[in-house]
Amino acid sequence: MAYEKSIAAFEEAYKVIPGGVDSPVRAFSGVEGTPPFIERGEGGYLCDIDGNRYIDFVQSWGPLIFGHCDADIEAAVMDAVKKGLSFGAPTTVETALAEEIVTLFESIDKVRFVSSGTEAVMSAIRLARGFTGRDDIVKFTGCYHGHSDSLLVQAGSGAATFGNPSSPGVPADLTKHTLLATYNDIESVKQCFADSKEGIACVIIEPIAGNMGLVPADESFLQELRTLCDAHGTLLIFDEVMSGFRASLKGAQGITSVKPDMVTLGKVIGAGMPVGAFGASAEIMAHLSPEGPVYQAGTLSGNPVAMSAGLASLKKLKANPAVYVELGNRAKKLMEGFKKAADAVNVPMVTDVRGSMFGFFFSDKPVKNFADAMENDQKMFAKFHKGMLDRGIYLACSSFETGFISAATTDAMIDDAIKAAYETLKEIQ
Ligand SMILES: *Cc1c(COP(=O)(O)O)cnc(C)c1O
Repeated sequence: MAYEKSIAAFEEAYKVIPGGVDSPVRAFSGVEGTPPFIERGEGGYLCDIDGNRYIDFVQSWGPLIFGHCDADIEAAVMDAVKKGLSFGAPTTVETALAEEIVTLFESIDKVRFVSSGTEAVMSAIRLARGFTGRDDIVKFTGCYHGHSDSLLVQAGSGAATFGNPSSPGVPADLTKHTLLATYNDIESVKQCFADSKEGIACVIIEPIAGNMGLVPADESFLQELRTLCDAHGTLLIFDEVMSGFRASLKGAQGITSVKPDMVTLGKVIGAGMPVGAFGASAEIMAHLSPEGPVYQAGTLSGNPVAMSAGLASLKKLKANPAVYVELGNRAKKLMEGFKKAADAVNVPMVTDVRGSMFGFFFSDKPVKNFADAMENDQKMFAKFHKGMLDRGIYLACSSFETGFISAATTDAMIDDAIKAAYETLKEIQ
């Protein structure tokens, strides 16, 4: 494949945008080559400015569950656009989208819309702290909750559970309230509770982790987490910005029996427009401004165009619940195909699927947490990614990301991707 125009576009972008991108992972730093610049999407395909066409397994990192340019969503957006882009005043479409979410999620009585997943989680944490009157929070190493200060914390070294900031510019004074635990390891959470002097406001978790590759939480682990939180008056937050409407219609909550106190959403609820949301019981949400004292606001929050896109997408999902069976079957077929291709050339690989989410690691042992994920063969992944891209298969450009199937991803596209995996693995083994 030729990438000349994209390479030139990247160089030009580099001069005026740091790293040439507006979100770091897009820069292809973890893989070989430079990022294709995208001209347009077509259902399950992505087309770049050099005229290459790819089968898209990124789908804008999750939001596009119906693929690119879905006619129903497009129509809803165009309708809204013609009425005005933003009013900064209440509209009925916000209530309509809120009603959809409240009826779907048992743990949500009320929901507040924001403009990104980062904002949703940041605001949920503030509300949890305001509600409990405590500052300390627990997060899991390898879980991503957006780039707000208290959540941008990497693994502390050795036994220390108190977090160190993972970026310059984040004061240690802020992250000292973020305690780190190990995913799927309840003892590490108990240690955080023991280490916290004043008590823990909330434990935040991706119930199906998608930002260290796809690493689902064990059901027993989530149950123990629930019990522990209840015993300490600590709120349990499920960050379902990625898994919401992806793992199932109800996200992870359609799979596990464990009920969180608060939920954060994003990605699919905006269908490709900037939307995030956080919700909880009426009692907890009553602490939020203007009902309560915990401040949170946004000029473009509940933007009518974005809300219309989300509403059209959720309505379509609810009207076609069988879509999740199809998406899940295709995700399974793809992962079984990749696994067979890897077996054929004796390359170790482990795979997993949750609804329309899929993940694979070049590793010979099951991945239960971030340390396991770190052991994957990243050089092999980089070569695999490049070989697949050259064969027209667009995979996330990092071994720590989740892949997505859209309703526009056909069985024939899955077959093409599996064929490309065989060829690529044979070439790079
Ligand atoms: C993507 C993501 C976020 C951040 O959302 P943005 O819209 O990128 O700010 C937060 N939490 C999880 C689990 C995510 O996958």
